[in-house]
Amino acid sequence: MIPPTYFAISWVIADATTKTRRDRAIVSLAGVIPDIDGLGYPIENWITINWDAPLLWYSEYHHILCHNVGFAAFVAAGVFWLSKWSRKTALLACLTFHLHLFCDVIGSRGADGYQWPVPYLLPISNAWQ
Ligand SMILES: [Zn+2]
Repeated sequence: MIPPTYFAISWVIADATTKTRRDRAIVSLAGVIPDIDGLGYPIENWITINWDAPLLWYSEYHHILCHNVGFAAFVAAGVFWLSKWSRKTALLACLTFHLHLFCDVIGSRGADGYQWPVPYLLPISNAWQ
């Protein structure tokens, strides 16, 4: 799936469960933010085309840096602070974050058909993917 799909799914959940625009925006963004580790894609493409030494920011780190429980805890803490200590908003953000991970597991593949593993327990363990 692509980020606009995650945003739409998260927005539907946020719109049905929150009362303020701020909380809707926070919960919706929490459902998209795991893919921030894919921002290396254009840089990797540009460098691979123009230089001899590839810089594999996307190939090596997409689905690694931000698709795990450590980043989920970081996002939950940030949402808790941004929502002015609203536990409900933090929990909804955790829900949309984990819904993103679930959708990646069931429906996300690279252009070559490779299904990226989601190392969920990072940084605690790399055992369960
Ligand atoms: Zn993702």
